[in-house]
Amino acid sequence: MQNSTLPVLPQAVMPTIKVVSSTCNLRCHYCYYNALDQSRPNPMSTKTVTNLIKKTIEFVQDDYVHFTWHGGEPLLAGMNFYEHILRIQELYGKKKTIINGIQTNATLVSDRWASFFKKHDFRVGVSIDGPPMIQNAHRVLPSQGGSSRLVQQGLRALQRHDIYPPAIAVVTRESLGNARKIFQYFLRNHVRSIHIKECYEIDPSTGRPTALSVMPDEFTAFLIEIFDMWFDLDDPSISIRNLEQLVRGLVGGEPSLCEATGKCWLFPVVEADGTVGACDSFPIRDYHFGNINEMSWGDLFASAGNIRFSENIRQNEDRCRSCEWFSICHGCCLRHAHSPVTHEWHHNLFCTSKKRLFGHIKARIDAIHAGG
Ligand code: SF4
Ligand code: SF4
Ligand code: SF4
Repeated sequence: MQNSTLPVLPQAVMPTIKVVSSTCNLRCHYCYYNALDQSRPNPMSTKTVTNLIKKTIEFVQDDYVHFTWHGGEPLLAGMNFYEHILRIQELYGKKKTIINGIQTNATLVSDRWASFFKKHDFRVGVSIDGPPMIQNAHRVLPSQGGSSRLVQQGLRALQRHDIYPPAIAVVTRESLGNARKIFQYFLRNHVRSIHIKECYEIDPSTGRPTALSVMPDEFTAFLIEIFDMWFDLDDPSISIRNLEQLVRGLVGGEPSLCEATGKCWLFPVVEADGTVGACDSFPIRDYHFGNINEMSWGDLFASAGNIRFSENIRQNEDRCRSCEWFSICHGCCLRHAHSPVTHEWHHNLFCTSKKRLFGHIKARIDAIHAGG
């Protein structure tokens, strides 16, 4: 048996931190926080964020320590919160390089925020689905009005401060058939790095994909269309991040994205109250590790919740190990190999369509090598 990519107990961690838990100023139709009260202010306490930063810096053996500030909408924590984290990081992280990432819906980004991010070297990522007709279909305000205009304002504020953030774009049913419009929208708006994700949610009452969901074959068709546009453009300054990672893996490079490396164990989620669980893709009750206020990262990784998660990752990898695409897929995103209804694991629902995508990308690379 080949070695697993899964360490027995990790020596590193890149936590995804839900600084305000589910609280958000948008009400995206596909948001997994839909069933919760998203208007209730719920910021992480000073005590919790201090414990989190101190224990993470202590735990990570590397010189670089990553924190990803996430939501809900992380800007709702307020600028004082981020000024505080910088002070704590300065206090405990003197010998390390701290890297702060923040993933925002961009609607609240003002010049003041943009200047703050620039000054403190935050790696800003924005969540934008595409042009107004796509964005406004599902990324809406509590009034159900579209968020596109606010997003454009936020993006411009960042760009005025020389921040050109990468975007995460969710492919919904409105996106299907519109790959070109979406790609051109991002280029027109100087967004040069795009990560494309699928909207695929299971309705717990039926166990079937929700009406908003894009099926695996539809998502792959979208990815192939946008891949061809990007590949034909042949502009190294533009990246479709998840597809570029596949190209890198296929030509013998080292991919870094979780879904291309199988390193799901690196990205546990930390809720505003300090509760820690597996990746954000899983309900925390399924893989509950403990609380950062009471435990070290070593104890959290040694918890029954993480041992079960690790074992499930390993079993998932073992099912896929003989696949010709294993080195660039590692069993694909685990989210699609786990039922949120029965909580059982199964073969990845996106497997067959992903194989088609991998085959297409490899054929395009081979054609170049063959001089085609
Ligand atoms: S911006 Fe994010 S957290 Fe807020 S409603 Fe939309 S998907 Fe949910
Ligand atoms: S489950 Fe999916 S999203 Fe989560 S870390 Fe693994 S590949 Fe990434
Ligand atoms: S393509 Fe399918 S079988 Fe191959 S590694 Fe990915 S999920 Fe597993």
